Amino acid sequence: MERRFPNGSVLRLMIGDITKVPADAIVNAANSALRGGGGVDGAIHRAGGPEIMKELDVIRERTGGCPTGSAVATTAGRLPARYVFHAVGPIWRGGTHNEAELLASCYRTCLQMAEERGVQVITFPSISTGAYGYPVREAAAVALRIVRDWLARPENKVREAVFVLFDEATYRAYAEAAEKEFGGGLDRPAGVGSRTG
Ligand code: ADP
Repeated sequence: MERRFPNGSVLRLMIGDITKVPADAIVNAANSALRGGGGVDGAIHRAGGPEIMKELDVIRERTGGCPTGSAVATTAGRLPARYVFHAVGPIWRGGTHNEAELLASCYRTCLQMAEERGVQVITFPSISTGAYGYPVREAAAVALRIVRDWLARPENKVREAVFVLFDEATYRAYAEAAEKEFGGGLDRPAGVGSRTG
């Protein structure tokens, strides 16, 4: 499923393993200690190799970690990318603890970091919807709105943002949120997401 904007930029949704999809920058769903973890974080460190953690060690010593809603950049080791942006999503605490704004801030920070580095293609996982428990429908609406608004702005240089979603249920939640947010203006490649909407 993809959406093309008048300025030529593209927002795409796909099912897959984010460590296998070539990009200029890969976004990681990290934790504020920047020490690695399970889920997509574990997969990124396994596939990228120890270089990434070495860089995070330096950042951690300097700053003590990364606050929720923000992100830090490293190189990408063996991953098919130039950078990894380690974003710290909010832990879901019922929705009354500024979770939506903190999640939006993760996506905005990563897009700003992409602009500063001349990144053209950026891939995102579904931040916070695994171990951090953010309901995927709500998270999808926040994520898609921020990324769509960014891509549609003519002054921004990021050309392609891809949500690489790990399982069918998460993909479907994002596809449905996209239909809702974008009012059905999405192109659907044959056979993908054909049961949604
Ligand atoms: P968080 O702690 O922010 O919730 P998780 O890594 O637990 O982060 O989960 C975030 C999302 O990433 C979940 O939808 C999970 O299924 C997904 N995920 C796990 N491994 C990968 C991977 N290799 N590629 C893409 N997404 C992944």
